Amino acid sequence: MSTLTNKIAIIGAGGVGATIAYACLIRGIGKQFAIYDVDRNKVDAETLDLVHGMQFVPMASVEGSDDINVCSDSDIVVITAGAKQKPGMTRMDLAENNTAILKQLIPQLMKIAPKTILLMVTNPVDVITYIALKLSGLPRERVMGSGTVLDSSRFRFLIAKRLKIAVQNVHAYIAGEHGDSEVPLWSSATVANIPLHEWAVAHHGRLSVMDRTEIYQNVRNAAYKIVAGKGATNYAVGLATAKILESILHNENRILPVSSLLADYRGISDVCLSVPCVVNRNGVEPPLPTPMNPAEEAGLRNSADTIRAAIRKLGF
Ligand code: NAD
Repeated sequence: MSTLTNKIAIIGAGGVGATIAYACLIRGIGKQFAIYDVDRNKVDAETLDLVHGMQFVPMASVEGSDDINVCSDSDIVVITAGAKQKPGMTRMDLAENNTAILKQLIPQLMKIAPKTILLMVTNPVDVITYIALKLSGLPRERVMGSGTVLDSSRFRFLIAKRLKIAVQNVHAYIAGEHGDSEVPLWSSATVANIPLHEWAVAHHGRLSVMDRTEIYQNVRNAAYKIVAGKGATNYAVGLATAKILESILHNENRILPVSSLLADYRGISDVCLSVPCVVNRNGVEPPLPTPMNPAEEAGLRNSADTIRAAIRKLGF
């Protein structure tokens, strides 16, 4: 366990970075926040807006700066800096630009916070997580991406809505890429321990093949729809990232589909993608043997190939 003081650094004071800070403050996750952005006016404004609400949340400190040293000795550094999707763009279209930012940031961060855990949110998050791992030289457990934690919560929400059941009672994961090749793990999905494919309950219906197709398409296209309507996504990713931070800082051992380096997981190696993993104060443990049917396993392999191809194109 760290002897440090629960300091969370957030790189990037944009829509995602500021919302992560807001979600953490409201939920009392972390006592000390540092926010770093190259845009001085933006980081100053977001920091002021956050500290002006301090009376109404569990006590914490927030310091914003355009000097990266504000992040010194952080327990966790969350990276949200970088370009975001514009309407019509895929997450993969951001890879080159955001890798260049990472090449600047990671060496500096390793100097001022060598004991940190890195949590990547910048897209394409699986590619960015792999590159952060390589550039930082940190052990695999200390580098993870927010992965499909957000996609899985979208998935659960849509299943819950169809079945008229509280989302907290739905257990289901999206695995693979946080992006177009992501894989819905229907075969292991349950509600109240009842496998979803067996679920047929009066007044709560059952999922047809068409329902499933629609739900998956909605999950996969959620970001495109939100970006088209409001230019970016921020609330759900803020909450999802806050949950990952809570599991790390409070040593919760929560199972989350974060993106991490795979080593011979169902024959997949040397790529970061999401499968359910235990997350705690040491970081991310190796993936769990979550059951998958052959189609899901093939989907995961395809997702790994997609991410790996993007990583190679960037020279890593
Ligand atoms: P944004 O444009 O609102 O904010 C990005 C911020 O990064 C800006 O304030 C900019 O000044 C800052 N920045 C750029 N280069 C920097 C550098 N070198 N150092 C420090 N700060 C720098 O974008 P956003 O909506 O906050 O999105 C941020 C990233 O998060 C995007 O890549 C987006 O695709 C990604 N995202 C990921 C998920 C996920 O689930 N993983 C969800 C939503 C968005």
